[in-house]
Amino acid sequence: MKVCILGAGLTSLTLAKTLVNQNIYVDLYSQKKIISSDNLRTIGISKSNVEFFNHSIINIDKISWKLKKIEIFSDNLRKEKLINFQNNNSELFSIIKNQNLIKLLEKSLSKNKYFKKINLSKNLNFFDNYSLVINTDFSNPITKKYFSKKILKEYNSVAYTTIIKHQKIHNDVAVQIFTKMGPLAFLPISERETSIVYSINDSKYKDYKNVNNLIEQNNYKYKIQKIENSNFFKLKSLSLRSYYHKNILAFGDLLHRIHPLAGQGFNMTIRDIKILLDIILNNNSLGLPMDSSINYQFEKKIKHKNFIFSNGIDFVYEFFNFERKINSSLLSRSVQFLGKNSSVNKLFTSIADKGSLI
Ligand SMILES: Cc1cc2nc3c(=O)[nH]c(=O)nc-3n(C[C@H](O)[C@H](O)[C@H](O)COP(=O)(O)OP(=O)(O)OC[C@H]3O[C@@H](n4cnc5c(N)ncnc54)[C@H](O)[C@@H]3O)c2cc1C
Repeated sequence: MKVCILGAGLTSLTLAKTLVNQNIYVDLYSQKKIISSDNLRTIGISKSNVEFFNHSIINIDKISWKLKKIEIFSDNLRKEKLINFQNNNSELFSIIKNQNLIKLLEKSLSKNKYFKKINLSKNLNFFDNYSLVINTDFSNPITKKYFSKKILKEYNSVAYTTIIKHQKIHNDVAVQIFTKMGPLAFLPISERETSIVYSINDSKYKDYKNVNNLIEQNNYKYKIQKIENSNFFKLKSLSLRSYYHKNILAFGDLLHRIHPLAGQGFNMTIRDIKILLDIILNNNSLGLPMDSSINYQFEKKIKHKNFIFSNGIDFVYEFFNFERKINSSLLSRSVQFLGKNSSVNKLFTSIADKGSLI
C-alpha cells in the first residue's frame, strides 16, 4: 500500500507521519523546501488534539508550552473580563512554534523506511502509480483543475503575527482582546516570550510600527523588551465545494481555511486526520483497497461538521465586528452573562477542544 501526498506544509508532514506509523508507504511530492523562513508563526493545539498527536503521530510535549487559562476581553468592556476558560488547573491549549513542529516531523520522517520525499516535476503522470492521492498543495495544476470551486469569504483584514520578548513571568494564561481594530491574541510560548496574532480590520495598519503601538497600548501584563519583525497574512475563509476528485482528496488549508481568531484552523485538520485514519484502518481490516472509496467516506463523515464549525467561527468574528461598528457594549454584556454560566462555559470549552459538544 502506497499513498501519494502533495505539499510542503504542516498538514502534509503531519499526515505523512500518521500514515507511516501505520506501516503505510508514503511518497511526499513537494515543490519547495519544507522549512520556510517564517520562524515567527506559532500554532495553538487543543488538549484533546495534543493527546491524539502524542498517541498517534509524534510526541510534542517537549516543544509545547502549556496554557491553563484563556481570558477574553472586549474593548467595549475594558478591564472587565468577558469570559474565562479554564479546566481544573489542567492545560487547555498548547502553543508550539510552527518551525519546531515541522523540524520534529521532518527529522522523524527522514529516518522512516516507509517515507520517501520526491521533488515535484512538471510531469504529473506519476499519479497513475497511486490508488490514493492526498493534495495539500495550493499551487499545483491539479488544484487549479479540480479544486477551484469553493465558498470563499474575504475578511478585508490582515493577520499580523510576531513574537514579543519580555521580562520573565509565570506565563500560562492566554489573552484575547476584541479591540476596535479587530481581535488581538497574546499567546505565551515561554516565560520570556509571547506570540502575538492580531487580525486587523483596516489594511492601512500594514505599517508594522503602528501595529506595534497598538500592541503596546493593549498590553497590560508584559514588560516588553523587544518586538520581533512581523509577518502579515491576508485573511479569508474558504470551504471547498467538493472534497475530492476521483482518487484525489484535498486536505488541510486547501480544503478549509478559517479566521484565526479562535486558533482552530490546524485543529480542524487534526480532527480530519483522526477521521481519515479511522476510515483507512477500517478499510484495511476488511481487506478493502485504499482508493476513491476512502475519499467518499471521508467527505460523507466530516463535510457537514466542518461546514458548521467554520460558520461558527465566522459567526464569532461577525458578532464582535458588529459590536465594533455599533460601538455598544450590549453584545459583550450578554456574552459576559452567558460565560458566567458554568454549563455554557463548559460547552464553549468543549467546542474549542474537540470541535463539538461531546
Ligand atoms: C495568523 C494565523 C494564526 C493561526 N493560528 C492557529 C492556531 O493557533 N491554531 C490552529 O489550529 N491553527 C492556526 N492557524 C491555521 C494554521 O496556520 C493552518 O491551518 C496551517 O498552517 C495549515 O497548514 P497547511 O499545511 O494545510 O497549509 P500551509 O501550506 O501551511 O498554508 C497555506 C498558506 O495559507 C496561509 N494561511 C493559513 N491560514 C490562513 C488564514 N486563515 N488566512 C490567510 N492565510 C492563511 C498560510 O500561512 C500559508 O501561507 C493560524 C493561521 C493564521 C494565518
